Amino acid sequence: MTDSVFEAAYQAARESLSQGGIPIGAALARGGELVAVGHNERVQNGDPIAHGEMSALRAAGRQRSYRDTVLYSTLAPCAMCTGTIIQFKIPRVVVGEAQTFAGEFELLRSRGVIVEVLDDQRCVEMMRAFQREHPQLWAEDIAE
Ligand SMILES: [Zn+2]
Repeated sequence: MTDSVFEAAYQAARESLSQGGIPIGAALARGGELVAVGHNERVQNGDPIAHGEMSALRAAGRQRSYRDTVLYSTLAPCAMCTGTIIQFKIPRVVVGEAQTFAGEFELLRSRGVIVEVLDDQRCVEMMRAFQREHPQLWAEDIAE
């Protein structure tokens, strides 16, 4: 159940990569069911705030409440996406990996968000290869 939602996020990341974009995917789930999936669209749409998590939330449309949802992401959420998770009161985040980017776990946890890291090696390898091949695109995504 949980795995199929994560797989949807992972496949979205692969899809972004195949489009020449940044390989980060995300998915919103409720009760183990996929609500929406998205991927980073910075390159595809020239949209600097279209991180994977933001794209998945946009794809989900208006939700009356997020308190019964889980946000999945192939990579640890940045400060912007963390702010959105806190703003929408999403209680739980499942992350593929946090080795290639540490994200904002401390901030998430300080606000009561449960963070689970899968240490998915496919995600680690995908990001390492991308960061090696496109260092400037990656630096731009995390504003460094
Ligand atoms: Zn982000």
